[in-house]
Amino acid sequence: MRRMRRTKIVATLGPASSSADMIARLFEAGADVFRINMSHTSQERMRELVGMIRAVERDTGRPIGVLIDLQGPKLRLGTFNGGAVVVKSGDSFVLDTDAAPGDATRAYLPHPEIFVTIKTGHTLLIDDGKVRLTVSEAGPKRIVTRVVVGGKLSDRKGVSLPDTMIPFSALADKDRSDLEAALATDIDWVALSFIQRPEDIAEAKKITRGRAAVMAKIEKPQAVHRLAEIIDLADALMVARGDLGVEMPLEKVPGVQKQMTRAGRVAGKPVVVATQMLESMINAPVPTRAEVSDVATAIFEGADAVMLSAESAAGSFPVQAVATMNRIAEEVEGDALYRNIIAAQRAAPEATGADAIADAARQIADTLDLAAIICWTSSGSTGLRVARERPRSPIVALSPNISTGRRLAVVWGVHCVVTEDAHDQDDMVERACRIAIRENFAKPGQRVIVVAGVPFGTPGATNMLRIAYIGADSAKD
Ligand code: PEP
Repeated sequence: MRRMRRTKIVATLGPASSSADMIARLFEAGADVFRINMSHTSQERMRELVGMIRAVERDTGRPIGVLIDLQGPKLRLGTFNGGAVVVKSGDSFVLDTDAAPGDATRAYLPHPEIFVTIKTGHTLLIDDGKVRLTVSEAGPKRIVTRVVVGGKLSDRKGVSLPDTMIPFSALADKDRSDLEAALATDIDWVALSFIQRPEDIAEAKKITRGRAAVMAKIEKPQAVHRLAEIIDLADALMVARGDLGVEMPLEKVPGVQKQMTRAGRVAGKPVVVATQMLESMINAPVPTRAEVSDVATAIFEGADAVMLSAESAAGSFPVQAVATMNRIAEEVEGDALYRNIIAAQRAAPEATGADAIADAARQIADTLDLAAIICWTSSGSTGLRVARERPRSPIVALSPNISTGRRLAVVWGVHCVVTEDAHDQDDMVERACRIAIRENFAKPGQRVIVVAGVPFGTPGATNMLRIAYIGADSAKD
Protein backbone atom coordinates (compact mmCIF):
# COMPACT_ATOMS: atom_id res chain seq x y z
CA MET A 1 0.00 0.00 0.00
CA ARG A 2 1.49 3.25 -1.17
CA ARG A 3 0.43 6.80 -0.27
CA MET A 4 0.36 9.25 -3.19
CA ARG A 5 1.78 12.15 -1.17
CA ARG A 6 4.97 12.94 0.74
CA THR A 7 3.60 14.99 3.64
CA LYS A 8 2.51 12.76 6.49
CA ILE A 9 -0.70 12.93 8.53
CA VAL A 10 -0.86 12.64 12.34
CA ALA A 11 -4.34 11.90 13.72
CA THR A 12 -5.14 12.26 17.43
CA LEU A 13 -7.27 9.49 18.92
CA GLY A 14 -10.06 10.26 21.36
CA PRO A 15 -13.71 9.44 22.07
CA ALA A 16 -14.64 9.80 18.39
CA SER A 17 -11.92 7.42 17.25
CA SER A 18 -11.16 4.83 19.89
CA SER A 19 -12.48 1.65 18.26
CA ALA A 20 -10.40 -0.78 16.24
CA ASP A 21 -12.70 -0.23 13.28
CA MET A 22 -12.33 3.58 13.39
CA ILE A 23 -8.53 3.36 13.70
CA ALA A 24 -8.47 1.11 10.64
CA ARG A 25 -10.66 3.59 8.73
CA LEU A 26 -8.46 6.54 9.72
CA PHE A 27 -5.38 4.63 8.55
CA GLU A 28 -7.11 3.76 5.29
CA ALA A 29 -8.07 7.43 4.80
CA GLY A 30 -4.44 8.50 5.25
CA ALA A 31 -3.31 8.65 8.90
CA ASP A 32 0.37 7.66 9.13
CA VAL A 33 0.87 8.32 12.85
CA PHE A 34 -1.62 8.13 15.71
CA ARG A 35 -1.28 10.55 18.62
CA ILE A 36 -2.54 9.66 22.08
CA ASN A 37 -2.95 12.74 24.26
CA MET A 38 -2.21 11.80 27.88
CA SER A 39 -4.03 14.95 29.08
CA HIS A 40 -7.25 13.11 28.24
CA THR A 41 -6.30 9.41 28.21
CA SER A 42 -5.77 6.96 31.09
CA GLN A 43 -2.81 4.60 31.00
CA GLU A 44 -5.14 1.65 30.62
CA ARG A 45 -6.90 3.25 27.63
CA MET A 46 -3.49 4.17 26.15
CA ARG A 47 -2.45 0.48 26.27
CA GLU A 48 -5.74 -0.57 24.64
CA LEU A 49 -5.31 2.02 21.86
CA VAL A 50 -1.70 0.96 21.20
CA GLY A 51 -2.95 -2.65 20.96
CA MET A 52 -5.59 -1.63 18.38
CA ILE A 53 -3.06 0.34 16.33
CA ARG A 54 -0.67 -2.61 16.29
CA ALA A 55 -3.53 -4.86 15.13
CA VAL A 56 -4.16 -2.50 12.17
CA GLU A 57 -0.42 -2.59 11.48
CA ARG A 58 -0.48 -6.39 11.38
CA ASP A 59 -3.51 -6.39 9.07
CA THR A 60 -2.06 -3.87 6.64
CA GLY A 61 1.62 -4.83 6.84
CA ARG A 62 2.61 -1.15 7.06
CA PRO A 63 4.61 0.35 9.96
CA ILE A 64 2.46 2.86 11.87
CA GLY A 65 3.84 5.50 14.24
CA VAL A 66 2.45 5.89 17.76
CA LEU A 67 3.03 9.30 19.37
CA ILE A 68 2.39 9.64 23.10
CA ASP A 69 1.82 13.29 23.98
CA LEU A 70 2.61 13.93 27.66
CA GLN A 71 0.56 16.56 29.46
CA GLY A 72 3.59 18.39 30.84
CA PRO A 73 3.68 20.73 33.82
CA LYS A 74 0.32 22.39 33.31
CA LEU A 75 -0.07 25.18 35.86
CA ARG A 76 -3.49 25.66 37.40
CA LEU A 77 -5.30 27.93 39.87
CA GLY A 78 -6.82 26.48 43.04
CA THR A 79 -10.56 26.49 43.66
CA PHE A 80 -13.08 29.29 44.35
CA ASN A 81 -15.95 29.74 46.79
CA GLY A 82 -18.99 28.85 44.67
CA GLY A 83 -16.75 27.52 41.86
CA ALA A 84 -16.18 30.82 40.02
CA VAL A 85 -15.73 34.59 40.36
CA VAL A 86 -15.63 37.48 37.89
CA VAL A 87 -12.75 39.98 37.91
CA LYS A 88 -12.91 43.34 36.14
CA SER A 89 -10.25 45.30 34.23
CA GLY A 90 -8.40 47.64 36.59
CA ASP A 91 -9.12 45.50 39.72
CA SER A 92 -6.34 44.34 41.94
CA PHE A 93 -6.12 40.54 42.30
CA VAL A 94 -3.80 38.53 44.56
CA LEU A 95 -2.37 35.06 44.00
CA ASP A 96 -1.05 33.44 47.16
CA THR A 97 0.10 30.25 48.86
CA ASP A 98 -3.05 29.85 51.02
CA ALA A 99 -4.95 26.70 49.98
CA ALA A 100 -8.31 28.17 51.07
CA PRO A 101 -10.86 28.64 48.23
CA GLY A 102 -10.49 32.01 46.43
CA ASP A 103 -12.88 34.93 45.95
CA ALA A 104 -13.06 38.08 43.77
CA THR A 105 -9.90 39.47 45.44
CA ARG A 106 -7.56 36.45 45.68
CA ALA A 107 -6.88 32.86 44.62
CA TYR A 108 -4.58 30.00 45.62
CA LEU A 109 -1.73 29.33 43.18
CA PRO A 110 -0.47 25.86 44.12
CA HIS A 111 2.96 26.21 42.46
CA PRO A 112 5.61 27.54 44.90
CA GLU A 113 8.21 27.65 42.07
CA ILE A 114 6.35 30.57 40.49
CA PHE A 115 6.68 32.77 43.59
CA VAL A 116 10.48 32.54 43.49
CA THR A 117 10.92 33.65 39.91
CA ILE A 118 8.06 35.88 38.87
CA LYS A 119 8.91 39.58 38.60
CA THR A 120 7.02 42.87 38.58
CA GLY A 121 5.74 43.55 35.05
CA HIS A 122 5.37 39.84 34.11
CA THR A 123 2.08 38.66 32.60
CA LEU A 124 -0.17 35.84 33.86
CA LEU A 125 -2.72 34.44 31.42
CA ILE A 126 -5.63 32.50 32.85
CA ASP A 127 -7.86 30.07 30.94
CA ASP A 128 -6.05 30.21 27.56
CA GLY A 129 -5.56 33.97 27.85
CA LYS A 130 -9.21 34.87 28.45
CA VAL A 131 -8.12 36.74 31.61
CA ARG A 132 -4.85 38.71 31.64
CA LEU A 133 -3.09 39.88 34.80
CA THR A 134 0.08 41.97 35.18
CA VAL A 135 2.26 41.60 38.27
CA SER A 136 2.51 44.85 40.26
CA GLU A 137 4.22 43.36 43.33
CA ALA A 138 6.05 40.02 43.48
CA GLY A 139 6.70 38.44 46.88
CA PRO A 140 7.65 34.96 48.20
CA LYS A 141 4.08 34.21 49.35
CA ARG A 142 1.93 36.79 47.54
CA ILE A 143 1.79 38.07 43.99
CA VAL A 144 -0.24 41.25 43.66
CA THR A 145 -1.56 41.77 40.13
CA ARG A 146 -3.60 44.26 38.17
CA VAL A 147 -6.37 42.86 35.95
CA VAL A 148 -5.65 44.00 32.38
CA VAL A 149 -8.37 41.93 30.72
CA GLY A 150 -11.16 40.86 33.04
CA GLY A 151 -13.46 37.85 32.92
CA LYS A 152 -14.48 34.69 34.74
CA LEU A 153 -12.02 32.76 36.94
CA SER A 154 -13.15 29.29 37.93
CA ASP A 155 -11.84 26.17 39.67
CA ARG A 156 -8.47 24.83 38.48
CA LYS A 157 -8.27 26.95 35.32
CA GLY A 158 -4.93 26.83 33.47
CA VAL A 159 -2.29 29.51 34.08
CA SER A 160 0.33 30.51 31.46
CA LEU A 161 3.42 32.59 32.21
CA PRO A 162 4.88 33.80 28.90
CA ASP A 163 7.61 35.96 30.52
CA THR A 164 8.72 33.78 33.42
CA MET A 165 11.32 30.99 33.24
CA ILE A 166 9.93 28.55 35.77
CA PRO A 167 12.53 26.44 37.57
CA PHE A 168 10.89 23.07 37.16
CA SER A 169 11.29 20.06 34.95
CA ALA A 170 9.15 19.52 31.87
CA LEU A 171 8.18 16.17 33.38
CA ALA A 172 5.70 16.36 36.24
CA ASP A 173 5.03 13.23 38.37
CA LYS A 174 2.09 12.31 36.12
CA ASP A 175 4.32 12.64 33.04
CA ARG A 176 6.99 10.36 34.52
CA SER A 177 4.41 7.75 35.34
CA ASP A 178 2.74 8.06 31.89
CA LEU A 179 6.13 7.92 30.19
CA GLU A 180 7.13 4.71 32.02
CA ALA A 181 3.75 3.16 31.17
CA ALA A 182 4.13 4.18 27.50
CA LEU A 183 7.69 2.89 27.25
CA ALA A 184 6.52 -0.44 28.65
CA THR A 185 4.13 -0.76 25.67
CA ASP A 186 4.98 -0.55 22.03
CA ILE A 187 5.31 3.16 21.25
CA ASP A 188 7.61 5.15 18.96
CA TRP A 189 7.50 8.86 19.77
CA VAL A 190 7.06 10.83 22.98
CA ALA A 191 6.02 14.49 22.73
CA LEU A 192 7.07 16.77 25.60
CA SER A 193 4.69 19.61 26.43
CA PHE A 194 5.60 23.06 27.75
CA ILE A 195 9.36 22.60 27.48
CA GLN A 196 11.33 25.77 28.22
CA ARG A 197 14.95 24.80 27.57
CA PRO A 198 17.20 22.12 26.05
CA GLU A 199 17.80 20.53 29.48
CA ASP A 200 14.13 19.45 29.42
CA ILE A 201 14.83 17.29 26.37
CA ALA A 202 18.02 15.90 27.91
CA GLU A 203 16.08 14.92 31.02
CA ALA A 204 13.46 13.02 28.99
CA LYS A 205 16.15 11.32 26.92
CA LYS A 206 17.80 10.03 30.11
CA ILE A 207 14.56 8.18 30.80
CA THR A 208 13.70 7.04 27.26
CA ARG A 209 17.27 5.80 26.56
CA GLY A 210 16.46 5.27 22.90
CA ARG A 211 13.28 3.28 23.57
CA ALA A 212 11.26 6.09 21.97
CA ALA A 213 12.24 9.16 19.97
CA VAL A 214 11.58 12.53 21.58
CA MET A 215 9.50 15.27 19.94
CA ALA A 216 9.79 18.77 21.41
CA LYS A 217 6.46 20.61 21.43
CA ILE A 218 7.26 24.26 20.97
CA GLU A 219 4.47 26.13 22.72
CA LYS A 220 6.24 28.62 24.96
CA PRO A 221 8.17 31.76 23.97
CA GLN A 222 11.01 30.56 26.22
CA ALA A 223 11.42 27.50 23.96
CA VAL A 224 11.23 29.62 20.79
CA HIS A 225 14.13 31.70 22.11
CA ARG A 226 16.28 28.61 22.54
CA LEU A 227 15.08 26.79 19.42
CA ALA A 228 18.53 26.07 17.98
CA GLU A 229 19.72 24.29 21.14
CA ILE A 230 16.44 22.42 21.48
CA ILE A 231 16.63 21.19 17.88
CA ASP A 232 20.14 19.88 18.55
CA LEU A 233 18.87 17.58 21.28
CA ALA A 234 15.35 16.70 20.12
CA ASP A 235 14.52 14.10 17.46
CA ALA A 236 11.62 16.16 16.07
CA LEU A 237 9.62 19.34 16.64
CA MET A 238 5.94 20.09 16.90
CA VAL A 239 4.63 23.58 16.18
CA ALA A 240 2.03 23.45 18.99
CA ARG A 241 0.07 26.43 17.76
CA GLY A 242 -2.68 26.14 20.40
CA ASP A 243 -0.64 27.09 23.45
CA LEU A 244 1.85 29.07 21.37
CA GLY A 245 -1.05 31.32 20.39
CA VAL A 246 -1.91 31.82 24.05
CA GLU A 247 1.61 32.62 25.21
CA MET A 248 2.58 34.78 22.21
CA PRO A 249 0.57 37.32 20.24
CA LEU A 250 -1.40 35.26 17.69
CA GLU A 251 0.03 37.21 14.77
CA LYS A 252 3.53 36.00 15.65
CA VAL A 253 2.61 32.30 15.36
CA PRO A 254 2.78 32.02 11.51
CA GLY A 255 6.31 33.45 11.55
CA VAL A 256 7.38 31.02 14.27
CA GLN A 257 5.86 28.18 12.22
CA LYS A 258 7.99 29.17 9.21
CA GLN A 259 11.09 29.60 11.37
CA MET A 260 10.60 26.13 12.87
CA THR A 261 9.81 24.39 9.58
CA ARG A 262 12.98 25.79 8.05
CA ALA A 263 15.15 25.08 11.09
CA GLY A 264 13.89 21.49 11.17
CA ARG A 265 14.65 21.07 7.47
CA VAL A 266 18.22 22.37 7.91
CA ALA A 267 18.78 20.03 10.87
CA GLY A 268 17.14 17.08 9.09
CA LYS A 269 14.64 16.62 11.93
CA PRO A 270 10.93 16.18 11.28
CA VAL A 271 8.52 19.04 11.98
CA VAL A 272 4.82 18.50 12.70
CA VAL A 273 2.46 21.46 12.27
CA ALA A 274 -0.40 21.13 14.75
CA THR A 275 -3.67 22.52 16.03
CA GLN A 276 -6.85 23.93 14.53
CA MET A 277 -5.79 22.90 11.03
CA LEU A 278 -9.32 21.82 10.10
CA GLU A 279 -11.06 22.99 13.28
CA SER A 280 -14.48 23.56 11.70
CA MET A 281 -14.55 19.89 10.70
CA ILE A 282 -15.22 19.05 14.35
CA ASN A 283 -18.82 19.89 13.45
CA ALA A 284 -18.98 20.03 9.65
CA PRO A 285 -18.13 17.55 6.88
CA VAL A 286 -16.27 20.21 4.87
CA PRO A 287 -13.60 22.67 6.05
CA THR A 288 -13.46 26.43 5.53
CA ARG A 289 -11.41 27.90 2.64
CA ALA A 290 -9.07 29.44 5.22
CA GLU A 291 -8.40 26.06 6.83
CA VAL A 292 -7.63 24.46 3.48
CA SER A 293 -5.23 27.30 2.83
CA ASP A 294 -3.60 26.83 6.25
CA VAL A 295 -2.94 23.11 5.63
CA ALA A 296 -1.69 23.94 2.12
CA THR A 297 0.70 26.57 3.51
CA ALA A 298 2.30 24.05 5.88
CA ILE A 299 2.70 21.62 2.97
CA PHE A 300 4.17 24.26 0.63
CA GLU A 301 6.66 25.08 3.42
CA GLY A 302 7.82 21.46 3.39
CA ALA A 303 6.55 20.44 6.85
CA ASP A 304 7.01 16.73 7.45
CA ALA A 305 3.54 16.25 8.84
CA VAL A 306 0.26 18.01 9.48
CA MET A 307 -1.76 17.09 12.52
CA LEU A 308 -5.41 16.72 13.51
CA SER A 309 -6.38 17.19 17.15
CA ALA A 310 -10.04 17.47 18.16
CA GLU A 311 -11.07 16.98 14.50
CA SER A 312 -10.14 13.28 14.70
CA ALA A 313 -10.31 12.84 18.49
CA ALA A 314 -13.68 14.31 19.34
CA GLY A 315 -15.32 15.58 16.16
CA SER A 316 -18.25 14.24 14.18
CA PHE A 317 -16.22 13.70 10.97
CA PRO A 318 -12.84 12.14 11.86
CA VAL A 319 -12.46 10.07 8.68
CA GLN A 320 -13.48 12.99 6.46
CA ALA A 321 -10.94 15.21 8.23
CA VAL A 322 -8.10 12.78 7.46
CA ALA A 323 -9.35 12.31 3.89
CA THR A 324 -9.48 16.10 3.47
CA MET A 325 -5.85 16.51 4.59
CA ASN A 326 -4.90 13.66 2.26
CA ARG A 327 -6.56 15.39 -0.71
CA ILE A 328 -5.01 18.77 0.11
CA ALA A 329 -1.53 17.23 0.36
CA GLU A 330 -1.91 15.36 -2.95
CA GLU A 331 -3.12 18.48 -4.71
CA VAL A 332 -0.48 20.84 -3.28
CA GLU A 333 2.37 18.44 -3.98
CA GLY A 334 1.18 18.25 -7.60
CA ASP A 335 1.08 22.04 -7.93
CA ALA A 336 3.47 23.50 -10.49
CA LEU A 337 5.04 25.79 -7.84
CA TYR A 338 5.51 23.16 -5.14
CA ARG A 339 8.85 21.78 -6.34
CA ASN A 340 10.32 25.26 -6.80
CA ILE A 341 9.36 26.31 -3.30
CA ILE A 342 10.67 23.09 -1.74
CA ALA A 343 13.91 23.21 -3.72
CA ALA A 344 14.53 26.86 -2.82
CA GLN A 345 14.74 25.92 0.87
CA ARG A 346 17.25 23.12 0.39
CA ALA A 347 20.13 23.30 2.87
CA ALA A 348 23.68 22.47 1.85
CA PRO A 349 24.82 18.97 2.82
CA GLU A 350 26.88 18.71 5.99
CA ALA A 351 30.40 17.39 5.63
CA THR A 352 29.53 13.73 6.24
CA GLY A 353 29.51 10.67 4.00
CA ALA A 354 25.77 10.22 4.55
CA ASP A 355 24.97 13.78 3.45
CA ALA A 356 27.29 13.66 0.45
CA ILE A 357 25.59 10.44 -0.66
CA ALA A 358 22.08 11.77 0.03
CA ASP A 359 22.82 14.92 -1.98
CA ALA A 360 24.33 12.90 -4.83
CA ALA A 361 21.40 10.46 -4.81
CA ARG A 362 18.94 13.34 -5.19
CA GLN A 363 20.90 14.89 -8.04
CA ILE A 364 21.34 11.60 -9.90
CA ALA A 365 17.69 10.67 -9.40
CA ASP A 366 16.66 14.10 -10.77
CA THR A 367 19.07 13.98 -13.72
CA LEU A 368 18.07 10.47 -14.75
CA ASP A 369 14.44 10.78 -13.67
CA LEU A 370 14.75 7.59 -11.62
CA ALA A 371 11.69 5.77 -10.30
CA ALA A 372 12.81 5.82 -6.65
CA ILE A 373 15.65 6.35 -4.20
CA ILE A 374 15.89 3.21 -2.11
CA CYS A 375 17.95 3.47 1.05
CA TRP A 376 19.01 0.77 3.42
CA THR A 377 18.81 2.30 6.86
CA SER A 378 19.14 0.52 10.13
CA SER A 379 18.64 3.37 12.62
CA GLY A 380 16.65 5.54 10.16
CA SER A 381 19.38 8.17 10.00
CA THR A 382 20.11 7.67 6.27
CA GLY A 383 16.35 7.85 5.60
CA LEU A 384 16.24 11.19 7.42
CA ARG A 385 19.23 12.61 5.53
CA VAL A 386 17.73 11.59 2.17
CA ALA A 387 14.37 13.10 3.17
CA ARG A 388 16.20 16.34 4.11
CA GLU A 389 17.06 16.64 0.39
CA ARG A 390 13.33 16.56 -0.45
CA PRO A 391 14.05 14.68 -3.71
CA ARG A 392 11.55 14.55 -6.56
CA SER A 393 11.79 10.75 -6.73
CA PRO A 394 9.98 8.79 -4.00
CA ILE A 395 12.07 7.53 -1.08
CA VAL A 396 11.79 3.89 -0.03
CA ALA A 397 13.61 3.08 3.21
CA LEU A 398 14.51 -0.55 3.92
CA SER A 399 15.21 -1.40 7.55
CA PRO A 400 15.52 -4.59 9.57
CA ASN A 401 14.01 -2.73 12.55
CA ILE A 402 10.28 -2.27 12.86
CA SER A 403 10.93 0.56 15.33
CA THR A 404 12.82 2.45 12.61
CA GLY A 405 9.92 1.97 10.20
CA ARG A 406 7.46 3.26 12.79
CA ARG A 407 9.55 6.32 13.65
CA LEU A 408 10.04 7.17 9.99
CA ALA A 409 6.24 7.19 9.57
CA VAL A 410 6.29 10.89 10.53
CA VAL A 411 9.09 11.85 8.11
CA TRP A 412 8.44 13.62 4.81
CA GLY A 413 8.34 11.30 1.85
CA VAL A 414 9.72 8.15 3.47
CA HIS A 415 7.92 4.88 2.72
CA CYS A 416 9.56 2.34 5.03
CA VAL A 417 9.56 -1.41 4.47
CA VAL A 418 10.83 -3.79 7.14
CA THR A 419 13.15 -6.39 5.68
CA GLU A 420 16.23 -8.15 7.03
CA ASP A 421 19.64 -6.60 6.40
CA ALA A 422 21.22 -7.17 3.00
CA HIS A 423 23.67 -10.10 2.99
CA ASP A 424 25.91 -8.82 0.21
CA GLN A 425 25.90 -6.27 -2.59
CA ASP A 426 23.92 -8.44 -5.02
CA ASP A 427 21.25 -9.02 -2.39
CA MET A 428 21.25 -5.28 -1.58
CA VAL A 429 20.37 -4.38 -5.17
CA GLU A 430 18.14 -7.33 -6.04
CA ARG A 431 15.99 -7.04 -2.93
CA ALA A 432 15.71 -3.24 -3.31
CA CYS A 433 14.43 -3.73 -6.89
CA ARG A 434 11.98 -6.47 -5.92
CA ILE A 435 10.57 -4.39 -3.06
CA ALA A 436 10.29 -1.27 -5.26
CA ILE A 437 8.10 -3.26 -7.66
CA ARG A 438 6.08 -4.97 -4.95
CA GLU A 439 5.33 -1.62 -3.25
CA ASN A 440 4.34 0.02 -6.56
CA PHE A 441 7.27 2.42 -6.78
CA ALA A 442 8.84 1.02 -9.95
CA LYS A 443 8.21 -1.23 -12.93
CA PRO A 444 10.53 -3.54 -14.88
CA GLY A 445 12.49 -1.47 -17.39
CA GLN A 446 12.86 1.50 -15.04
CA ARG A 447 15.89 2.43 -12.98
CA VAL A 448 16.26 3.19 -9.28
CA ILE A 449 19.10 4.37 -7.10
CA VAL A 450 20.16 2.24 -4.13
CA VAL A 451 21.92 3.84 -1.15
CA ALA A 452 23.56 1.77 1.58
CA GLY A 453 26.35 1.50 4.08
CA VAL A 454 28.97 -1.22 3.88
CA PRO A 455 29.56 -3.22 6.05
CA PHE A 456 25.79 -3.83 6.13
CA GLY A 457 23.91 -3.15 9.34
CA THR A 458 26.43 -0.64 10.72
CA PRO A 459 24.53 2.52 11.66
CA GLY A 460 26.09 5.70 10.27
CA ALA A 461 28.17 3.92 7.64
CA THR A 462 26.32 5.21 4.55
CA ASN A 463 29.01 5.12 1.91
CA MET A 464 27.70 3.68 -1.33
CA LEU A 465 25.29 4.40 -4.11
CA ARG A 466 24.28 2.20 -7.09
CA ILE A 467 22.09 2.94 -10.08
CA ALA A 468 20.16 -0.25 -10.73
CA TYR A 469 18.15 -1.33 -13.75
CA ILE A 470 15.02 -3.24 -12.83
CA GLY A 471 14.89 -6.40 -14.90
CA ALA A 472 11.86 -8.55 -15.51
CA ASP A 473 13.23 -11.05 -12.95
CA SER A 474 12.68 -8.57 -10.15
CA ALA A 475 8.93 -8.79 -10.74
CA LYS A 476 8.98 -12.46 -9.69
CA ASP A 477 8.78 -12.42 -5.90
C1 PEP B 1 -1.03 22.77 21.17
O1 PEP B 1 -1.08 23.46 22.19
O2 PEP B 1 -1.08 23.22 20.02
C2 PEP B 1 -0.90 21.31 21.33
C3 PEP B 1 -0.71 20.51 20.31
O3 PEP B 1 -0.94 20.82 22.61
P1 PEP B 1 -2.19 20.16 23.32
O4 PEP B 1 -3.13 19.67 22.26
O5 PEP B 1 -1.60 19.04 24.14
O6 PEP B 1 -2.75 21.23 24.16
